[in-house]
Amino acid sequence: MKTSIATVSISGEFEEKLSAIARAGFDGIEIFENDFLAFDRSPAEVGQMVRDHGLAVSLFQPFRDFEGMPEPFRSRNFDRAERKFDLMTELGTDLMLICSNTSAVSLGGIDRAAADFRELGERAAKRGLRVGYEALAWGRHINDHRDAWEIVRRADHANIGLILDSFHTLARKIEVNSIRSIPGDRIFIVQLADAPLIEMDLLYWSRHFRNMPGEGDLAVTPFMQAIAATGYDGYLSLEIFNDQFRGGSPEAISRDGRRSLVYLMDQVRRVEPDMRIPVPDMPERSEVSGIAFVEFAVGDDDGRELEALLQILGFRTVARHRAKAVTLMRQGDINLVINREEKGFANASYLVHGANAYAFGLMVDDAAAAHVRALQLGSEDFRQVVGPGEMQVPAIRGVGGGIVYFLDQKSGLGQIWDAEFEPVSEANESHATVGLTRIDHLAQTTRYDEMLTWLLFYTSELSTRKTPMVDIIDPAGVVRSQVVETEDGRLRITLNGAENRNTLAGRFIAETFGSGIQHIAFETDDIFATADALARNGFKPLTISANYYDDIEARFGLDPTLVERMKLANILYDRDDAGEYFQLYSPTYGEGFFFEIVQRRGYAGYGAPNAIFRIAALKRHLRPQGMPR
Ligand code: MG
Ligand code: MG
Repeated sequence: MKTSIATVSISGEFEEKLSAIARAGFDGIEIFENDFLAFDRSPAEVGQMVRDHGLAVSLFQPFRDFEGMPEPFRSRNFDRAERKFDLMTELGTDLMLICSNTSAVSLGGIDRAAADFRELGERAAKRGLRVGYEALAWGRHINDHRDAWEIVRRADHANIGLILDSFHTLARKIEVNSIRSIPGDRIFIVQLADAPLIEMDLLYWSRHFRNMPGEGDLAVTPFMQAIAATGYDGYLSLEIFNDQFRGGSPEAISRDGRRSLVYLMDQVRRVEPDMRIPVPDMPERSEVSGIAFVEFAVGDDDGRELEALLQILGFRTVARHRAKAVTLMRQGDINLVINREEKGFANASYLVHGANAYAFGLMVDDAAAAHVRALQLGSEDFRQVVGPGEMQVPAIRGVGGGIVYFLDQKSGLGQIWDAEFEPVSEANESHATVGLTRIDHLAQTTRYDEMLTWLLFYTSELSTRKTPMVDIIDPAGVVRSQVVETEDGRLRITLNGAENRNTLAGRFIAETFGSGIQHIAFETDDIFATADALARNGFKPLTISANYYDDIEARFGLDPTLVERMKLANILYDRDDAGEYFQLYSPTYGEGFFFEIVQRRGYAGYGAPNAIFRIAALKRHLRPQGMPR
């Protein structure tokens, strides 16, 4: 599989872009004419720089407003094309992109355009160059790849071919199966981009909101399946115009780009096994049956504080690691690991972020396969030296530099608690359990510009889907929230992207130096019974304002007795088409971390309408910013 990316897709100086692109594993780059205009090297030097990085120039673009022009524009266009051919020869690329004409002067007419391309094909052939024609979604006369193909077909010249771009086809909702009747060898290059579904002007949408395949909402996979069916085996090239990417890290954006193509082609090869594009074989996305554990890195004092809080929440210390300062606390199917080690990664994480939930384990069908797939998609491997009798649990780096472990039943990794831990016999039953059964969701907070990275991370590695993005209104700004979840809800991760440090999420990132997990939500089957048991344990829930209860009573038409019970227990409420949701929050622990307790009665969401009340209440509890820890 040959992959390429347009240099305009990423930020940085030209040379910086080249090294990031090469390191991410791409074979080529598309060069935009503007890359030269802003750069003081000759085309020959630029071409050499590209090749010195082990890359090829897959395409030179764009050449605009070419076909179907009246004189004198027509003659001038051919002269202009000859000069670009000179430049391409110096640069060392053989393919030029011509996008469909948007000029008000252009005349239209399929045969007129075909004749122009035939003549240009003759000129290109003399220099051993090729020209590809792309239908822009906003082209004046040609805005559909089917019409562009008809022009290429009628031009009937070996050096003239078609360029397909997923954005232009999918933005106009053109039937992708129309691609299947085009011969693969007449498609000169395939450009790929996704985009979020937003109603707006096509040109503006394309220039600012494109993103990597799998990051948006367009049907890029069926588009690519149709191309694979034609026998096409050339470059898969990312052409992404995105304001955020242009301000992001060249390394991260390049890695995401490469991941998006590997993921896309892995999906395509499963339905088009005979395609000519060679794609690496890798295990399927892992089925996740639950969160096996969450691990906290703590020091002595904050470790005691955390354990005390967890005891009040009904957790019991059930086991201690045989060789390490690590304890296991449990309630229902929830395993929380408290790591006080003074060496190793947990300690390093503690020193950087303070007490934090730095790791979690996913129960998958095949841990080794999940790990292999993650590495093939470009995730960073994580390994620690293990002691005698300890298991090497496959793991990768995740959000905020944290660790994601993979466990399964079949290889015995699921028995880690028996293998590495000693049961605790001493009585620690000063507090009663409160009926928490499992982890409902983990909430991870990240910088807004990394949201797409982590959405793609989860959806490409695990058998999950993403829900539409919602805006959470924090009194200090907007936090974008998007969910990754399995079909059956056994894994639910909410990703919150903070744009400014005055929001609760932004503050959490700033104060914990980018740690990932900000809250853990536990499930109960009876939130009122749990609230009563918590009260007996001395739990002080996050206090919700009385106004909230007046509002929900009216908004949902709730029974006043029920509302009164919720108000007494500080329980929040939401409802969707499928059912009801009850939520209860702890105050913050440390730098903005907290626990949530939820009961779902068929409800599918996460209580987003309540977030503003929760955030306001949490902010009242936080110490002033900038105080010593
Ligand atoms: Mg394009
Ligand atoms: Mg939550």
